[in-house]
Amino acid sequence: MTEWETIQSRFLAMNPKELNEQAEQARREKGKLLYEIGERHYTRLRTEGKHEEIRAILEQEVLIYGALLRIEEMEREAARRACKTCKATLEPGAKFCGTCGTPVPQEAGAKKTPCRACRTLQPADQPYCTCCGSEMSGLS
Ligand SMILES: [Zn+2]
Ligand SMILES: [Zn+2]
Repeated sequence: MTEWETIQSRFLAMNPKELNEQAEQARREKGKLLYEIGERHYTRLRTEGKHEEIRAILEQEVLIYGALLRIEEMEREAARRACKTCKATLEPGAKFCGTCGTPVPQEAGAKKTPCRACRTLQPADQPYCTCCGSEMSGLS
């Protein structure tokens, strides 16, 4: 029996509801497989430096990355506004707490360079882009 005949004989015993479920399950599986193929293809194009071909995906990566980075920044800002020692609220730009005199840790201004694939700014000494995974000093 061919594969098609096997499927047909199996489906002969099913009602429309079961057949619909079968079709839905196959559609989900197909979606998953398409995603996996797309993901592999995307990684290959990115590694080969074919950034224009994956521009639309990179734009989405930048949105995801940018939104999560902003949340992180807001959390860090909130933590910075309170003194570590006495929990007093710090003035913007304060180097010391006005209540207890504890030094306020300052943001390190690390040198940044744009990723050649997604164009987000990344620390200059980092081997891979933390947004899209491209090599920072690889193909352009
Ligand atoms: Zn303090
Ligand atoms: Zn990147």
